[in-house]
Amino acid sequence: MPDTSPPTFTEWSSFPFEGDIRVKQLEDPVDIEPPRMGEDAADCAKCHTPDEAYIWVSDNWRVRSMDRPSGLPMVLILESRSHLDLGDLPNMLAAELGVMTVRLERAIRSLDGVARVHVNRWGDGAAHLHVWFMARPYGRLQLRGTFLTLWDEILPPVPEAQWRENLALVAAWLAEFGGEPLAKPPRIDWKAPSSFNSTALTLSPTLAGSAGVAQADADLANQTPPAGAGTPAAEDASPRPAGDASTPDDAPQPVADSGSRSDT
Ligand SMILES: [Zn+2]
Repeated sequence: MPDTSPPTFTEWSSFPFEGDIRVKQLEDPVDIEPPRMGEDAADCAKCHTPDEAYIWVSDNWRVRSMDRPSGLPMVLILESRSHLDLGDLPNMLAAELGVMTVRLERAIRSLDGVARVHVNRWGDGAAHLHVWFMARPYGRLQLRGTFLTLWDEILPPVPEAQWRENLALVAAWLAEFGGEPLAKPPRIDWKAPSSFNSTALTLSPTLAGSAGVAQADADLANQTPPAGAGTPAAEDASPRPAGDASTPDDAPQPVADSGSRSDT
């Protein structure tokens, strides 16, 4: 008789589900696995995605966000610029990957409300090297560990303005060491002059102290919007890497699941 007792991880406090859950039937292994997405550079969505879709770029690396906020305070993907997988990296790029990994971890961990940053590389979906960085919100002990990827889709999305501000902060942090920051701070939702009359009295202390902010906002009006700016696809419940809306990428899941929303 096979052991039908549930796996012990279902008893972990971080396991996101309760109630009766049944393990799926294990499918037979295939003799030859299908190619991943973009196995050939000519068909690779990452190779064909322009820099504008990223929050920061350099000669050898690019960092992208999802196209909209998700449940975790920050989820970013580090990609090599060249069409390589992890095991293909020459020594110089392999060494740089180590430096970039530590640098990006620090940048994300510096954000308010972030306790820890988890770094993951799966590579079952897209062939082009991409490493996930996922931030766990401070104090959320229930989110500790490997189920964080599931909680990212369970939790309500974080506020978009805060998320865009954080993208700009990470991009600026990385740019301290080189490369180009492409994520800009969000536009401030400044009141139109016609609405000042009714609110002038209550707003006046704020306005008096915000002249610099107003100027900054005016400057921003002429700049390129942040990576991924735009309207999310309403029919798709799951955030995707910005600039990659038409091509499913592999989702941040520890186990590939060809039946899931986007991971094959
Ligand atoms: Zn590629």
